[in-house]
Amino acid sequence: MATEPSITSENRFQWTIARKIGGLAMVLIVFILALLLYSIVSLSEMQAELKEIAELDVPLMELINKIEIHQLEQQITIDQLLRQSERAELTQNQEVAIKQRLHAHSEALNQHIKEGIQLSELGFQAEFRSLFEDIHTSLQGVQQEEGYLHSVWIGIIEKIDSGVYPDKQVVDDALSEEIKFDKTILTLIRKIEAFTEREIDTLEKHNKIFFMVNSALGISGVLIGTILSLIIIVGIRSNLFQLTQRVSEVTQAVAGTGSISTGSVNIDSSDEIGKLASELSLMFNSVSEDFQKRDELLRQLKQVATTDKLTGAFNRLKWEENQALEVERVKRSQDELSLIFFDIDFFKKVNDTFGHDVGDLVLIEVVQKTKGNIRQTDSLYRTGGEEFIILTPNTDQEQAGILANKVRQAIEKHDFETVGRVTVSLGCAQFDKKNEDSTEQMLKRADQALYRAKEGGRNQVIIAD
Ligand code: GH3
Ligand code: MG
Ligand code: MG
Repeated sequence: MATEPSITSENRFQWTIARKIGGLAMVLIVFILALLLYSIVSLSEMQAELKEIAELDVPLMELINKIEIHQLEQQITIDQLLRQSERAELTQNQEVAIKQRLHAHSEALNQHIKEGIQLSELGFQAEFRSLFEDIHTSLQGVQQEEGYLHSVWIGIIEKIDSGVYPDKQVVDDALSEEIKFDKTILTLIRKIEAFTEREIDTLEKHNKIFFMVNSALGISGVLIGTILSLIIIVGIRSNLFQLTQRVSEVTQAVAGTGSISTGSVNIDSSDEIGKLASELSLMFNSVSEDFQKRDELLRQLKQVATTDKLTGAFNRLKWEENQALEVERVKRSQDELSLIFFDIDFFKKVNDTFGHDVGDLVLIEVVQKTKGNIRQTDSLYRTGGEEFIILTPNTDQEQAGILANKVRQAIEKHDFETVGRVTVSLGCAQFDKKNEDSTEQMLKRADQALYRAKEGGRNQVIIAD
């Protein structure tokens, strides 16, 4: 009976405790891995952004700043050249020195532009390659412009060198070219600045998202872990609770102080404890059935042991048990206790005339008639061959006398099978709470009353003094 669930559920997947805890650990590990993976990806993205800023944007800005500085210095040198040559103050030595300075500026400018071009080429791999391509193109333009300007200024110096002041239009054109060049450089600087700011903004945005996602993942992980743990713990606890309840029921039933409920335990878990609980539940049910059978047998046994086989009235054994209980009870209360002792009149004659079997039938009918006339709380005992006692709780001797007469009349009026008319004589007595400890004397007094009833002509009730 108890093996049924384990057979049917053998092949089905079951959430054992180990699997539950393993599942919980898996969920948490997945969360932690997701957290780690996301952190690694985000951090490496942010690192790439930072690297781009540090390795490309900042050095590029520095280079272009240097280009701007050299360009400004070149302008100052040219200014000086023009002003001095206009006033014809230029000596041979100064002229040579200016030329040298112009060459040096041009060289430095060229060098920086070249470096800038190389650096912007590196940016072709970066995330925002279009910007680096744009800078690259601009720097190539700047390179060409610088070469052209340099040759213009060297031409102008050559002319001054040969004693001819250059045409004003040529100088003005060169100067406006110089201003254009300057503007291009400034635009480049602004572009890189704006771009760097944008990159820093993105980096901050990424940093914020990184923090939020990590926090959300962390909090969800903790919540899911807590909820799953609670579900597992509550499940196990409720099964354990039901189990302990059943065990205590069985213990009480074994001790005879309680009974086992037959309803099956509501086990909604397939873990080891759930399985154990449902198997035990089946065992308990079977034990419970056994206990019920045992109780029923005991009840039947007790009934057999306390009932008179022939008449169905209680026997002497039951009389001994019940009279003691009633005496105990009446001594502790305000109630009275009485008894009626009665005997069939001339019963020997019945036996002699109609035989023993007919005598037995008379005994059965007397019991039936008596039982039909006493109260639920009264009890009838066959204490001798054809002698009976009616025990009447909550009754004084007068009331017992009335009851005795009722019984007497019922038997007297009854038409007994074969025999016809049968009568009984009855003696009543009341328990003397003050002077008596047992029913012995009360019974003796009732017996004497019965004797007097026989003496007085039978078929009558006598109440003891
Ligand atoms: P009295 O009116 O004085 O009581 O006269 P009695 O003839 O009834 O006298 P007594 O009470 O002494 O008689 C008891 C008789 O009851 C003796 C016995 O034969 C008979 N008896 C006892 N037990 C049984 C029984 O189980 N079945 C039958 N048929 N007779 C029984
Ligand atoms: Mg008798
Ligand atoms: Mg008799």
